[in-house]
Amino acid sequence: MSRGQDASLTEPWEVRLRSAIRGRERWDVKPLHKRPDLAQALEEALLRHPGIREVHANPISGRLLVTYTPDYPGLSVEELLRDHLPALSRRPYSESRAQPRPDALRRILKASLPERRRLVAPPLLSALAHSLHILQGLSFVSTVNTAKGEAPGFLRVLGIVKRGSQLAFMGGLSVLLTAADFWAQYQRRKAWRKLAFATQHRLRTRLAARLQSQDMAFFDHQGTGHLMELFSEDTTRIESFVEQAGDEVIEKSLTILVGGSILLRSSVRLALLAFLPVPFILLTSRLFRRGIDERYERMREIAGQYSQRLENSLLGIANVKSFTAERREARRLHENDARLEEAALEAEDFEAIQSHLAQGIFSGSFALTAWYGGRLLATNKISSGDYIRAVYWFPQLLPALIGLQRLTGMYYGASASARRLAAVLDARPAIRSGPARLPARAVRGEIVFEDVTFGYTPAVKVLDNVSFRLRPGETLGIVGPTGSGKSTLLRLLLRFYDVDSGRILVDGTDIRQMHLRDLRAAISWVSQEVYLSQGTVRENVLYGQPRATERRVIEAMRDAGAAGLVTSPNGGLDAEVGERGRLLSGGERQRIAIARALLKNAPILALDEATSHLDYETESAVKQSLQQAATGKSVLMIAHRLATIRNADHILVLERGHIRERGTHDELLAQKGLYASLWELQNGEGYFGGLEVRIITDEE
Ligand code: ADP
Repeated sequence: MSRGQDASLTEPWEVRLRSAIRGRERWDVKPLHKRPDLAQALEEALLRHPGIREVHANPISGRLLVTYTPDYPGLSVEELLRDHLPALSRRPYSESRAQPRPDALRRILKASLPERRRLVAPPLLSALAHSLHILQGLSFVSTVNTAKGEAPGFLRVLGIVKRGSQLAFMGGLSVLLTAADFWAQYQRRKAWRKLAFATQHRLRTRLAARLQSQDMAFFDHQGTGHLMELFSEDTTRIESFVEQAGDEVIEKSLTILVGGSILLRSSVRLALLAFLPVPFILLTSRLFRRGIDERYERMREIAGQYSQRLENSLLGIANVKSFTAERREARRLHENDARLEEAALEAEDFEAIQSHLAQGIFSGSFALTAWYGGRLLATNKISSGDYIRAVYWFPQLLPALIGLQRLTGMYYGASASARRLAAVLDARPAIRSGPARLPARAVRGEIVFEDVTFGYTPAVKVLDNVSFRLRPGETLGIVGPTGSGKSTLLRLLLRFYDVDSGRILVDGTDIRQMHLRDLRAAISWVSQEVYLSQGTVRENVLYGQPRATERRVIEAMRDAGAAGLVTSPNGGLDAEVGERGRLLSGGERQRIAIARALLKNAPILALDEATSHLDYETESAVKQSLQQAATGKSVLMIAHRLATIRNADHILVLERGHIRERGTHDELLAQKGLYASLWELQNGEGYFGGLEVRIITDEE
């Protein structure tokens, strides 16, 4: 994917590819050095690109590690660096920027954890539950020691001196502590779980709200899969972190504190011996960590590819079947799954080696402690009580110490998720609401485009100097070849994007000055790609006007040529439309979309090939009822079939973003330009979709 080992950019943004395997590249990025602000900004910027999965920028080593979906169309890490690095590096490097922003995990937690008073119970219950557990263990050891005649001192203080009574007391105490421990453990888990789920819920809610408010441009650049993963995987990682991290820190610290001091009190040498394996176990963990991470990362990637492929083949099942590619798809899934199985086995196997190695060191040192403690006992350097305590505590102490290491892994995982989440939560929409209020009722519907120029990317102009004026109640037909910018024109009117230069006015107000809700409330838009959401026909029609009466729904359906759907034996308005409306035909979906727009009853109607899926007869019927329904409204109508817009007050012919011709139908025919030739093509050479089917004769 990258262009070579020595891909270096112009000074001073030198970057050099250090290593690359499929889906993973390591770069030396000089400007990163000692720039924690740049590291963070670069991570966030790269993570916004679809296909990029994980980014670690290290301001100390100046290295950058990028993990991405292999073969993601058009993705090049090198180009992304080229795009982002110069601009990011040029940002002023003030002292305040030099301070890394509070790390993403902390920010995410701060914003998502519930109110403070709900944070008190879980740690308290943890302290209680783990203390009870330790006490239970201590009472168990004391019972054994009591049986051997080394009863704990407090029994004498309580006046229990007979061994039988002592044993009965200790036994009873143990049972009591066990019951209390049982109760406390349950409460502790429940409290943390509650806290973690509440955090995840708040996080998801914020994420959903933030996503809804993002610009269209944001969605153009983020893959849906990536955004879904934020909800499913990343918020879950934060949830697990909240559920486990605090609790484990308390548990492990208490165990280390109590166990360590008991061991130290028994024998310093024994304690030292017990701690001896720790550095070795940490070393194996360190040595294996990277390998384990890489293998799991690979596994996650293959799992991602698998679900992507599965999704593709399920969504495109009709295509699969039409090309009789079922077996090929099944084989590909099988191959992908086999790779996943292999990768999972490899990752788990590699991890198992490390865990067995650690286990071996642990068991060896346990044996060593038991032997050495035994020697100390034999030479009367320690009491048998101390010996039993040491043997009891050792197997708890070591896992507690090693567990702390596992927590750091969890922290890094949660931090990576938090950075991905922060990249979305921090993204501020560029399209903001203006101050001018203009209720839909008050909109007359005058639309003016003044020298509008726009491109989705700065390099390519999609509309160039487009100007026109539509008076209230007039109809504008927009025609032109595919890709000439017709839909873009409507998207600009809806402010899905802002113009690069020029302006768009509605009733004399620049739409950037208008309240966004008012603007969009004033426009009924029927898009080219109809999107219906799962639910009934009625729910879909009511989408823009949830409180409209049944009578109005039926009227809108009738005007949209969908009266047949209302009375259809399939359930009429209560019929389910299926996922994305797949249970309906293209024409039915389109009619529901028109009905939905008509019910909204906005003063401006923007139709983007709204009748393209209708047959000739239905289209002419819909056209007539639309004309009636649109009386007094301003209408912008994109049409492929020129006959649809024949009666429009004005017609614009767009070509490659320019207005090539304009006028009424008759004026345009008289110009004998592009429009006239298109008309001829559609209506003369057997184009049966138009309103008229004419055969050009010699006389014409
Ligand atoms: P039309 O409606 O006339 O067929 P569009 O307005 O949809 O054309 O598109 C005009 C041009 O803009 C096309 O070249 C298309 O590839 C490009 N384009 C459309 N949408 C986007 C987008 N979201 N991002 C980048 N380019 C786009």
